[in-house]
Amino acid sequence: MGHSQKVIDEVIEVVKKRDPQETEFHQAVLEVLGSLKPVIEKHPEFVKAGLLHRLVEPERMIMFRVPWHDDQGKIQMNRGYRVHFNSAIGPYKGGLRFHPSVNLGIMKFLGFEQTFKNSLSGLPIGGGKGGSDFDPKGKSDGEIMRFCQSFMNELYRYVGADVDVPAGDIGVGAREVGYMYGQYKRLTMLYNGVFTGKGLDYGGSLGRKQATGYGLLYFVQEMLKDNGKDVTDKKVIISGSGNVATYAAEKAQEMGAHVLAMSDSNGYVYDPEGIKLDTIKRIKEIERKRIKEYVQEHPQAQYYEGSKGIWTIKCDIALPCATQNELDEESAKILVTNGVWCLAEGANMPSTPEAIKTFKDNGLLFAPAKAANAGGVSTSALEMSQNSMRLSWTFEEVDAKLKDIMTNIYSRVSQAAAEYGRPGDLEVGANIAGFLKVANAMMAQGAV
Ligand code: NDP
Repeated sequence: MGHSQKVIDEVIEVVKKRDPQETEFHQAVLEVLGSLKPVIEKHPEFVKAGLLHRLVEPERMIMFRVPWHDDQGKIQMNRGYRVHFNSAIGPYKGGLRFHPSVNLGIMKFLGFEQTFKNSLSGLPIGGGKGGSDFDPKGKSDGEIMRFCQSFMNELYRYVGADVDVPAGDIGVGAREVGYMYGQYKRLTMLYNGVFTGKGLDYGGSLGRKQATGYGLLYFVQEMLKDNGKDVTDKKVIISGSGNVATYAAEKAQEMGAHVLAMSDSNGYVYDPEGIKLDTIKRIKEIERKRIKEYVQEHPQAQYYEGSKGIWTIKCDIALPCATQNELDEESAKILVTNGVWCLAEGANMPSTPEAIKTFKDNGLLFAPAKAANAGGVSTSALEMSQNSMRLSWTFEEVDAKLKDIMTNIYSRVSQAAAEYGRPGDLEVGANIAGFLKVANAMMAQGAV
């Protein structure tokens, strides 16, 4: 075994030993470091400077108590997190997730991924992530507001327009960002865009809501173009029915694809005539109900319990846009048997390592999350620019910049893959290109 591989294995071992229970974080570290051998071989100075050991340890991890009153007047308690992972190339930037599964390992995996994604975006933003094990499902508007205010009563100390700028993620949309931003303003008297994904009336950017989903399709389009294919008339399935899934579906339909199925954490709907997005938007964004309601209005569609079943539907392109590890080896094999030839990740780390191996072994066009879903954070950075300049761009301006950014990410990633002897392997390309910029910045800044 070469020296570089030994160094990488040693770092992975330290990570596992230090926090043995953080399995999602281990998985993310393994995925990135697994691609870095040729880079380490070329740059022995990184090893000498202990760079990999520093890279896998967050700069700072903040954990705090979030007490809040429910509608019965009872005090409830959740745990809040903010992980400041890496600020080598800019202020910490990354979403907040409210979901009962949230724990420190999940926050760290997301913050680690975010560091490389933000680097790939080409914009000056570092990596961070946060959230809470609070479950927004079934809570009243008042409960959501009181939770968000209490969460901010602590988090406000650690964020700032040039320090850390959070955004939304699972369970955090415009409503939650509004409540948190309002509380931040009360506490600090500052009107500086410390959140992105804000409402349009108070500093939000046109196009931010659509950005992750649209960006995913712009990336897919580039990848397909490079391989002599396109999206038009292709059969697409999209897991999830939240922010990313909805706008991925919208752009896919605009590009002429047939979106046949979408899901939530309870089950999925299959509509042979193509998913009617207006219905999905109303059910999920406005009424905050379950996706199974869809079939009440569209009797030609079928609803099935269990979200995993969505991967059994025959398609050309599959877009996992719900959550981590939602697509395992078994599902990957079914997809392949049914003829899928393109898989692009809208969610963060949605495919298990075994699923990714199945895709690669079968020659799929595979777009990894940290490149393919970078449109959201990139447009967040555009929101930050507009806030600093005290102006707002039109939807068309933002969308054109987003398209440009995704095209550039695709070429950066495919070039890196080719340069390091793995042409077409966008997973390796994304890891290497994302890593190099952060590593060079860390080297330049000394022992940070
Ligand atoms: P939303 O909360 O808007 O939507 C999440 C969707 O995924 C919902 O349909 C939800 O179903 C489903 N889901 C959540 N948890 C699970 C689970 N454990 N099993 C099955 N389905 C689940 O979140 P987003 O759309 O914002 O985020 C989706 C993914 O995209 C996440 O991985 C996120 O990190 C990633 N991402 C988001 C970005 C953004 O800009 N929002 C940017 C880049 C990445 P239900 O309603 O039943 O909970």
